[in-house]
Amino acid sequence: MEQLTRREVLKGLGAASLGAAAWLTLRGAMDASPNPQRKRVLRIAHLTDIHVAPEGVSVRGLIDCLKTVHEMPDRPNLILNGGDFVSDVFAQNEQRARVLFDLWTRLIKEHCQIPIRHCIGNHDVWGWDKSRSGCTGDEPKYGKKWAMEALGLEKPYYSFEQAGWKFIVLDGTFSHGNGYKARLDDEQFEWLKAELGRTPATMPVLVLSHMPIVSACALFDGENEKSGDWVVPGAWVHIDARRIVELFYQHKNVKLCLSGHIHLFDRVEYNGVAYICDGAVSGGWWRGNYHQTPPGWGLVDLYDDGSFEHEYRSFPYPAPTGG
Ligand SMILES: [Zn+2]
Repeated sequence: MEQLTRREVLKGLGAASLGAAAWLTLRGAMDASPNPQRKRVLRIAHLTDIHVAPEGVSVRGLIDCLKTVHEMPDRPNLILNGGDFVSDVFAQNEQRARVLFDLWTRLIKEHCQIPIRHCIGNHDVWGWDKSRSGCTGDEPKYGKKWAMEALGLEKPYYSFEQAGWKFIVLDGTFSHGNGYKARLDDEQFEWLKAELGRTPATMPVLVLSHMPIVSACALFDGENEKSGDWVVPGAWVHIDARRIVELFYQHKNVKLCLSGHIHLFDRVEYNGVAYICDGAVSGGWWRGNYHQTPPGWGLVDLYDDGSFEHEYRSFPYPAPTGG
């Protein structure tokens, strides 16, 4: 009798009960070694947490980062902007918000030739901190409207198909007093459910969110263990992650979730889905590294068999000026 491989043993066990069979599927996803026949269908640069402002080195930094991406010999076909592209308009008045959105629009127009798709971050939402922004809420561009206008978006969340993959872009900034929580409202969650439902099971799915849905690095942002327990605020990682994870578990074609927000780089595999928090172009808010993560961006190659490769790349970073 031939010696059984571990996978064959698992297969045999899988036949024994439905639960074990589900476990087998899970192992299969995580054990997958690159298929030599697979073809790369898309190369993506994921730039998140750019936090551009007229002061300091962020303008130079964004231009340098875009230059690095554009000058790659095998340059990406698509840029994903992961959100927090302006330093902040959440707590800023109209005049400041105009300066930041105009600056972003000009920089992208002048320095980005690669097609770009956008996700809205919390810092891109205008005026929700009413006590600091002075907004009443009745302003025509209040909230996400200004960012949507600047980015040319009809809705703050949407989907598109490219190169045989489905892309789902989420809007996780949920109003909470003068602040926010990271979660989808019920309408968006129902939309996500329907969107996955109408995507063929054979089509791999990439989800782009600003805040991570599942994250390890969020533990290290701040002094979260100070109380003797790990405490991660609901504004850092999706507080509705449980139902999102359960939904993804029903759709095995969800392969990759990209996020930012924490400014740290990690990669977590959970239920066969890879969750990558892709650091930050601004690093430690344009003052160098943030903890051990240097300023950088994610290079993602997507393949026709639903697999992907990812690496986090730093770029020549302008010296902080203290601005
Ligand atoms: Zn953020």
